Amino acid sequence: MSATSSLETAANLLTAWGFPVAKRTGWASKKARTDIAFSPSGVIFHHTAAWTTTDALLFDTGNGKIKAPLCHWSIDRDGRITLGAGGYANHAGINSKAAVAKILAGADAEVKPGPDDDGYSANRYTVGIEVKCPGAYNEAQRKAAVALGAALVIAFGWDKARVPAGAHKEITRRKPGDPGDDMGAFRAEVRALIKTKTAPPPKPAPKSAQVTVLVANCQSYDGDCSEAAWRARAQLMAKSSPDVILVQETTDPGRKAMCDELGKGWSYHSNGKSVAILIGPRVKKAGLKRTVSFGTAFGHGAVKLPLKVDGVGFDAISQHTRPASILPDKIEIQLKNGDVAKGATLAGTWPAIFGGDFSLNDPRIAGWIRATPKFDSVDRPGPQSPDAIFTKGSKVKLESAKLIDPGNLSDHKWVVATFTVSA
Ligand SMILES: [Zn+2]
Repeated sequence: MSATSSLETAANLLTAWGFPVAKRTGWASKKARTDIAFSPSGVIFHHTAAWTTTDALLFDTGNGKIKAPLCHWSIDRDGRITLGAGGYANHAGINSKAAVAKILAGADAEVKPGPDDDGYSANRYTVGIEVKCPGAYNEAQRKAAVALGAALVIAFGWDKARVPAGAHKEITRRKPGDPGDDMGAFRAEVRALIKTKTAPPPKPAPKSAQVTVLVANCQSYDGDCSEAAWRARAQLMAKSSPDVILVQETTDPGRKAMCDELGKGWSYHSNGKSVAILIGPRVKKAGLKRTVSFGTAFGHGAVKLPLKVDGVGFDAISQHTRPASILPDKIEIQLKNGDVAKGATLAGTWPAIFGGDFSLNDPRIAGWIRATPKFDSVDRPGPQSPDAIFTKGSKVKLESAKLIDPGNLSDHKWVVATFTVSA
């Protein structure tokens, strides 16, 4: 990239950062010499020794002894920045070669120059900046100068950690106090600004949402199917503020009554038989329902719905595995695990929440974890833990779980759990 295009890039950066930058007409072709190539690898800051120095003197006329341009950029008393030359500029005069090397290599503390080397000038290696002031930069000038230094380092692709920026007083003993600023501190400010301006944008926190899921086997086979009983179940369900209810042993009129009782925004999605998913107003259906049937007359099976809460997607599956009462003993466990595996296959690629009455105390499903504890959820001798929630994927995390006793509204206790699901 040519020096002029890098200078242009620096001007654009400064504008983007909110600094007022002017480009003088014809700046790109302005140069003090045509016999020396200008290929800068650093920048030298100056002061003009007066508040009143004009851009016309700096860029057009020179000071009577030295031919203009006398710098590439100027900074006014109010911090306004002007780009006035794109080629070789007479800003540094004769300098100490070792001191210039130190500046170009990136110095920490202020560089103390040795004597000038005859015929050696930093002009061909450095961009020159004249700040219009008699001593040290004022606050607006300092801010503008630091920003200009940072913009040049970025635009030219110079070392961001060892910024090649120095002052006239650091490369020659002829110019003490040019400028009055401490250049060690100045360079630290330039480095800090570059860091801010080139820091990668912070990664947005992964989107996540909390979702409360209730597993409710709603009745024993000879349970109360009255509308009043369904409404009473819904009233109890509402107490845990669920977003999703995975129900088993329900009927269509029963589900209708429960959604009506749960209130506005509730809907149900069944396997056409006794298994269903009830979703509340926070929850949006985000795909097609899928079901599997386990081939019993009663309608044991599973239903899946892709859902979204606060824009975060997950699959919810409600399952009712065949109970022992209708299975021959020897193949019971095998068949039940087959049912569970079938239900699990409904899950897609999203995080998945798989709950229900598994009719097994300890179903094993490859790739899934039992998220809820082994609650004793059925009134039969010995610990009975068929009601559970399994999860798949690292993006669904259990926050809390508890057991609810619905009394004579069901012969199962209900499991309610809150999850954090991440996108
Ligand atoms: Zn100077």
